[in-house]
Amino acid sequence: MSYKTIVGLEIHSELMTESKVFCDCKVEFGGDSNTNCCPICLGLPGTLPVLNKRVLEFGIRAGLAFNCNIAKETKMDRKNYFYPDLVKGYQISQYDMPLCEKGYVEIDTEEGTKKVRLIRIHIEEDTGKSIHSNDGGSLLDYNRSGVPLIEIVTEPDINSGEEAQAFLENLKSILKYIEVSDCKMEEGSLRCDVNVNVIDEDKDIKTTVTEVKNLNSFKAVAKAIDYETNRHIALLKAGKDAIRETRRWDDMKNETIVMRVKEGVADYRYFPEPDIVGMEIEDNWIKEIRDNLPELPHIKKDRFVSEYDIPVYDAKVLTATKALADFYEETVKYSKDPKQVSNWIMGDVLRRVKDEDIDIEDLRFTAKDLADLINLINEGKISNNIGKKVLRTMFEEGKDPNTVVKEKGLIQINDEDELNKIVDEVLDKNPQSIEDYNNGKDRALGFLVGQVMKATRGKANPQMVNKMLREKMS
Ligand SMILES: [Zn+2]
Repeated sequence: MSYKTIVGLEIHSELMTESKVFCDCKVEFGGDSNTNCCPICLGLPGTLPVLNKRVLEFGIRAGLAFNCNIAKETKMDRKNYFYPDLVKGYQISQYDMPLCEKGYVEIDTEEGTKKVRLIRIHIEEDTGKSIHSNDGGSLLDYNRSGVPLIEIVTEPDINSGEEAQAFLENLKSILKYIEVSDCKMEEGSLRCDVNVNVIDEDKDIKTTVTEVKNLNSFKAVAKAIDYETNRHIALLKAGKDAIRETRRWDDMKNETIVMRVKEGVADYRYFPEPDIVGMEIEDNWIKEIRDNLPELPHIKKDRFVSEYDIPVYDAKVLTATKALADFYEETVKYSKDPKQVSNWIMGDVLRRVKDEDIDIEDLRFTAKDLADLINLINEGKISNNIGKKVLRTMFEEGKDPNTVVKEKGLIQINDEDELNKIVDEVLDKNPQSIEDYNNGKDRALGFLVGQVMKATRGKANPQMVNKMLREKMS
């Protein structure tokens, strides 16, 4: 039997504008409760919302980056529903005339590149936050009320948890490149809801769509989709259908749990927001925004491959974020060895960045420092292994490599006479190893090289030592 999973995503992304969408209150994460809100945020009687033009600009920027059509005319609508964190009793959103339509995001799959189509991107305001205390009480923080959002809705083009994860990673990367959102899931600035159902392709029947809400990581999205796929297949096998319901992912139990059963489509009684008149978007403005879009990650990736002659894999890793790509290019500028730079960044640098859970922007040394380190190795002034040690000191103390090498006396010993003396001493002390080597035990050579390195505290030129030992023992 053959089953196909069908997934559509709805992504909410908070925009990094300085002020909120309808008032001058600051957009900022954290801060004391209810310190970043005003009568407009709270929709008090007599207040009038004024649309922040930057929000439209950010929405258009996202639309262009995702290949959407930008509306010539658009409007805001009221979405009416009651919830404690929505103090006005309605949310200002967009209904039938969204800012951006169509568009797509490309992902790499085993079968090649796949386009995940977007239905729309619209702008709206965020709600406040309910904080439930241990004693059963609820507190409300309206700092988030009126923070601008874009909602991105996909066609059901995604067919697995893995594809959903790849899609979200590309989407996040682009949103960060164009600097419209910081996409911090842990701070709620990127949120994802998932709609899943399964088709039994032999019988041509499909299950009712289940919605999984409030997923807090891309991994959780992938796991929830895989879990729902299996649940829907089990239902199909039993001749049953899924119920129209909203579920949530439980990270501890590794399963989805029912939140509420949906009773038909909620009636939000949408109507045009009377306090904000219709908006016309001028072609000139769209063109100006398009002209100022930065180079997007997939284009940068292709350019890295052709300009620096590095493998596609390297280019993909290095262009994952704009900051990392900038750091790579800056390092190459000073070192002129693009592949070597890629190896150091993808290896020791990123490993440490990940271990310390920091961003590349937070490094205590500069791109030029890294280039200097690589140059020291290429010029034979320090060995690769010493280079790794120097990098560790650069991470910890933020010193440049020349200073570290000088302070710790790490310059490589390339002097033949000096090395000769040490190699002879090591050979004198290890007659058994010479015999082993001559009996074909290659490990003995490694041991002897190690002894020389130890005697020089890692400073001997390992290639030279290797060659000398072989010559002396033959
Ligand atoms: Zn306000």
